[in-house]
Amino acid sequence: MTHNKGFETLCIQDHFGLESGVRPHLPPIYATSTFVYESAEKAMDVFQGKEQAYIYSRWDNPSYTLIEEKVAALEAFGLDLKPKALLFSSGMAAISSFILSLKLKPGDAILTQGNLYGTTTELLYNVIAGTGVSIIYADLKDLNKVADLLQSNGNIKLLYLESPNNPTLECYDLEALAILAKQHHIITAIDNTFATPYLQQPFRFGIDYILHSTTKFLNGHGTALGGMVVGLDRQHMEKEVWRMRKLLGGTASPFDAFLLNNGIKTLVLRMEKHCENANKVAAYLEKHTAVARVNHNSLPSHPDHELAKRQMRHFVSTMSFELKGGLQAGIRMMDKVKLCILTASIGTVDTLIQHPASMTHSNVPLEQRLQYGITDGLIRLSVGLENVEDIIADLQQAMDGL
Ligand code: PLP
Repeated sequence: MTHNKGFETLCIQDHFGLESGVRPHLPPIYATSTFVYESAEKAMDVFQGKEQAYIYSRWDNPSYTLIEEKVAALEAFGLDLKPKALLFSSGMAAISSFILSLKLKPGDAILTQGNLYGTTTELLYNVIAGTGVSIIYADLKDLNKVADLLQSNGNIKLLYLESPNNPTLECYDLEALAILAKQHHIITAIDNTFATPYLQQPFRFGIDYILHSTTKFLNGHGTALGGMVVGLDRQHMEKEVWRMRKLLGGTASPFDAFLLNNGIKTLVLRMEKHCENANKVAAYLEKHTAVARVNHNSLPSHPDHELAKRQMRHFVSTMSFELKGGLQAGIRMMDKVKLCILTASIGTVDTLIQHPASMTHSNVPLEQRLQYGITDGLIRLSVGLENVEDIIADLQQAMDGL
């Protein structure tokens, strides 16, 4: 009888081979820029592609291979799929290299949502649009509108998604969008950073490419930047995405790959606790008299509560909320927190708080920011693994008198 290993086991087990007979418990960090050859003939074979071997760490390194195979297995968990993953130096290196790997031409278009992570929006505005590619922002919840756009605009080549999005937790119907895109032979990609493969597996819904900032929950401890592209089209991954990594040089470091692999071993435990704590914090905030609105998918008041329940194992641990006192109240609160850390990231073991309008989304045009609910008074919270009563007590004392 075949036994398929569980998700937790795939997170923890390391598969690595060593030739010398040395048998370390944990995989070594291949801190080397180049790899050597037994002979000139062997070197020639490798460079001519007749033999597979590591050449140079901007191209590939065993420390990347280990974590790439792990994340690919997690994204394909329970599915009869064999995706290929590639590790990058950051989430933005992964996203930009992926988009450039598609070799879109002037006149081609990308259909996306206007509420992407701020730096992704900036990348589309300042770099991709500069190559002559149009960026079409649409309400991707309006499936009729998406169908019309895909029908009427043959230039659309990529449907780019982020669900749940940063920081208002909007979700999009991945299955319905993937079906529409397939009808028009359009590539689909999603930024799955907020959910991780433990909460959401976009391949289940027919999405073609998955992107991650591994800096967040996958690393889990804030110790290293990283990014990942995972794709079902292995040929495109191995040739084009890999080539972009090689040419643009957004390659990760072996040490960061090691830190990522260490962090991912506890992904399941962390995500379970992150999500449990976040649900309690969201319920607390929603009842607080100083709070005007809470964006968290666990709340029936969130417009995407039902969709999130359908697409994800649990609701994510990031949320945002608006204080009735607006920006000034937000600044006072962020100055008063003691346990929550004022910093611009998410997904670490401790609770992080920040102000998107002046920090992560400060380069998104004001009109676009406001249109998507990223108001001046919005605060983002990444709920950590501390005792939830301590997190709530800190928020309570920080909101006292607001
Ligand atoms: N995607 C999302 C949803 C993010 O939140 C971030 C960073 O906050 C990124 C991508 C970019 O990742 P990185 O900072 O690793 O480049």
